[in-house]
Amino acid sequence: MKLDVRTIMLMLSGINLLGAGMMALISFHADNIRGVRQWAFGHCCMCLGIFISTQMSPEWPLWLIASVPLITGCGFGLIFNGIEAFKGKRCHYWVTAWVGLQMMAQSLWFGVMHDDVRMTVIANSLLVSAVFAAGALNLRVKTTQPLRAAYILATSSFSFIALMSLLRAVNIMRTPAQEISLFAQGNVNPIFLVLGGLSQLSISLSLVLLITFRLVSDLREQASHDSLTGALNRRRFEDEAGRLLARAARTGDTLSVIMIDVDFFKRVNDFHGHQAGDEVLRRLASLLQAVIRSEDCLARYGGEEFCILLAGTNEQGAAQLAERVRQLYAELQIKWKNEILQSTLSAGVADTSKLGTDLDTLVGAADHALYKAKNAGRNRIALHSEGMQGSSG
Ligand code: GH3
Ligand code: MG
Ligand code: MG
Repeated sequence: MKLDVRTIMLMLSGINLLGAGMMALISFHADNIRGVRQWAFGHCCMCLGIFISTQMSPEWPLWLIASVPLITGCGFGLIFNGIEAFKGKRCHYWVTAWVGLQMMAQSLWFGVMHDDVRMTVIANSLLVSAVFAAGALNLRVKTTQPLRAAYILATSSFSFIALMSLLRAVNIMRTPAQEISLFAQGNVNPIFLVLGGLSQLSISLSLVLLITFRLVSDLREQASHDSLTGALNRRRFEDEAGRLLARAARTGDTLSVIMIDVDFFKRVNDFHGHQAGDEVLRRLASLLQAVIRSEDCLARYGGEEFCILLAGTNEQGAAQLAERVRQLYAELQIKWKNEILQSTLSAGVADTSKLGTDLDTLVGAADHALYKAKNAGRNRIALHSEGMQGSSG
């Protein structure tokens, strides 16, 4: 099989141009996703570096010859930095500078000073292998689907390029020096380049997939969570509750609901401003999140109302938790500017044992109990099945 190395490298350059274009387009519309710009510039540098290398001639001035490995190396480094940024980490740009300068130094040392193409290719292939192996290691992230699939594809593509570059270096080490030139028509060199090109395409596509799935996850999060407190919103709560109640109906397990409402919350807003009120809601939500178990559901049900669904818990158990929350919240002093914000809450509790597993009935019963707690003077817990319990104030 005769393959022209220069043509393959031009295709490689084209693949990178395509990658750069896609990333640039994405960066205009998804500027909240970090890493895309580094990937766009990285692809751009790789495209440029590989393209210039196909046109290179020994008559060129030294600075132009030196710029090719510098630009290409910086491209590899920027792809690595993009992964760091995508993961929300600080970018180590010295990696980009180091890879670019190292590739330039070894190309000048072996290629220009010693006219040794063999050592140039070996050294540069080993460097590429190291950078892509580092990228693959950096892509090992514990996450949920569908993002996990994109991470796996990207890790495999990075590992494959690292392996191909390593094999290329080993292969060249075993080839007699006189048979080697940068654009040699031998059987092995082009095959490594074709496989490298395909994995380069796979890298570009997997990066696009990472961005797409990150956007999907972000949108899902936004569609199901309240942006102020991070608790579930009503829609997602109803879905989750439906699932838990259906299971409770099957297994006969008891499930309970706590409705929580901040007492005289309007006064917090009126005296300290809406932002102070928002801070109170955020702190209450984190308090609630900290006391519930991972299988329970916390939702912001209305303005300053929260609803908790407790799996495998009866009214008594839920009331104990509500009482703990009431005490913790009453003691909570929230620093706001130069003031201390302190308020109380009331809660109503109901369970499925007598009411059945209809969500509206349960929430209605807990709401009714909350109403009783408010009427009895606030800062207390009321059970749907009984009268008042655990009060202070
Ligand atoms: P009660 O003890 O009877 O519950 O009295 P309350 O003042 O807490 O109840 P009321 O229903 O009169 O007032 C609730 C207030 O909550 C009114 C509304 O402006 C405020 N609120 C609703 N959502 C938000 C929000 O997201 N941020 C802030 N800061 N305030 C909110
Ligand atoms: Mg209130
Ligand atoms: Mg209210």
